[in-house]
Amino acid sequence: MGRNQRRTGDDGAGKATGDIDQANREPQARPEANVPERDAERRDVERELRASRARLKYLVSANPAIIYAAKPADNYAVTFISENVTTQLGYEPHEFTHNPGFWASRLHPADAQRVMAESVRQVALGEGVLEYRFLHRNGQYCWIRDEFKLTRDTDGQPLELVGFFLNITEHRRAEELKHTLLSSVSHDLQTPLASLVVSVSELRRHRDAEWWAEHGPPRLAQLEREARRLLAVMTDLLDLSHLEAGGWTPACEPYDAADLIGGILARFDESLQQRAQVRLETPLPELWVDGPRIAQVLYNLLDNGFKYSPTGSPVEIAAVRDNGAVRLEVRNEGAGISLAEQVRIFDRFYRGASARELGVDGTGLGLAICRGIVEAHGGRITVESDGVRGTVFSVLLPAISERASETV
Ligand code: ADP
Repeated sequence: MGRNQRRTGDDGAGKATGDIDQANREPQARPEANVPERDAERRDVERELRASRARLKYLVSANPAIIYAAKPADNYAVTFISENVTTQLGYEPHEFTHNPGFWASRLHPADAQRVMAESVRQVALGEGVLEYRFLHRNGQYCWIRDEFKLTRDTDGQPLELVGFFLNITEHRRAEELKHTLLSSVSHDLQTPLASLVVSVSELRRHRDAEWWAEHGPPRLAQLEREARRLLAVMTDLLDLSHLEAGGWTPACEPYDAADLIGGILARFDESLQQRAQVRLETPLPELWVDGPRIAQVLYNLLDNGFKYSPTGSPVEIAAVRDNGAVRLEVRNEGAGISLAEQVRIFDRFYRGASARELGVDGTGLGLAICRGIVEAHGGRITVESDGVRGTVFSVLLPAISERASETV
């Protein structure tokens, strides 16, 4: 390419090279003194350009929103997508841009028809917002909020869609949890509250001593039961919201497993205490735990053990060593928990077949709270059952090492 050609129509670095050549050959037309000045100017412009490119790249990739451009028709083929699509959805940008049907083919089948119909309507309006499930590379669907605008050329013809995807799965989950919580709370609180109101108004209506002598004590006992149940539900809900907000750290101290177990058993009625069988391995290192909270876990497990097993059957509570840690086990007889149920048993509000079959009262929050407390200790809670002959819940907890007085 000749010098004259290089000068015409060239810009940026090319144009600068041409200027230097020209300055060398025609000093009178372009004063020598201006060359370094122009070079410095050019370098400044280039530096500024590089800096703004880097800023833009950072803003696009650090932003949780995935920025894209797409065709305004033809399955909305994606023509550009920001690199953060890889961290957010697991795909490489070229997977979107090289395959025109990529975006549409990954919509959840239950959402695809609605999304495509809505897209046509919103593109015609010039902008839109859609929420749908989109297949992540890991095989799971995540919720996406998709906001876009239609750009037009100078003749007003549709040019392209520019927009962004936001992964709102967590937000959706929180909304669902709030919904479940509300419906569960309204059910769990409404029934005992309604019964409380009926009992109180009945007690107010009857003033004669004879009626009171016969019906007063049982009605008051029922009132107390319902009020206690309400209190238990409220306490569970508060505990769980506290644990799930991550706002709780255990206040750990050394605890003797035998003392903890003894203290918990003393809280049960005499008849239930007689069903309990304690097994302690000796010697056993001291636990390094938040005593009252671990007592709450054990109480819950034992209470479940008594509730979900045949009347009078034994419930075993054991403490054994496990690789420098201590494992507490609660074992009960009964129908057990099927494998399908075992994966859901620690979910909030989950109530299993045994609860329905045996007509046992509860909120389905107990095991979720146990898991929250145990995991906040860095421990683990698991369930084992063949679904036929009873259940064992195991809680692995940190202990104090005998040699170094350090937690293990
Ligand atoms: P709740 O007892 O209020 O239903 P939990 O979270 O404590 O709530 O338990 C969840 C479900 O797990 C129960 O509804 C019951 O079906 C099952 N479950 C818990 N413990 C046992 C057990 N020891 N044996 C059999 N099933 C159990």
